[in-house]
Amino acid sequence: MDPTRVAIAGVGYLVLWVLSTIVFTVLLKGTDNPAEKKRLGRYSLIVISSLMVGAAVVAGAPLGVILFVAVGCAAFYWLAERFTKYCQACGHTIQRPGTFYCPKCGTKLESKSTSSAASNPER
Ligand SMILES: [Zn+2]
Repeated sequence: MDPTRVAIAGVGYLVLWVLSTIVFTVLLKGTDNPAEKKRLGRYSLIVISSLMVGAAVVAGAPLGVILFVAVGCAAFYWLAERFTKYCQACGHTIQRPGTFYCPKCGTKLESKSTSSAASNPER
C-alpha cells in the first residue's frame, strides 16, 4: 500500500468521522421522537460504515481487506439495529439488551425489535 494514500485515507476518515458524529449528535439532541431517533441512528451507522469502507478503498487496501471491513460494518450495523431501542414516551436511547423499562422515565418498553426471538421472557 502507498503510504501517502494510507495517510490521506486515515486523515480523511478521521475528519469525516468527527464531522458526521457531531452532526448526528446535534440532530439526535434536537429530537425526542423515537421514530426520528431510530432513523437518525440508522443513517449515522450507514454513513460511518460507508466512511470505513471508503477509507479502505482510498488507502488502496486489497479487496479481501475491503470485504472484511464491509462485512464487519454490516455485522455491527445488524447488532446495533437489534439492540438499540428508543423509549416511546421520552425518546431516551437504550442500548442494553434485556432492558424492559426505560431507565429515564420508567415506561415499559416495546419489545418489537426482539419479539421474533424465541427467548422472549414476556411470554
Ligand atoms: Zn422514557
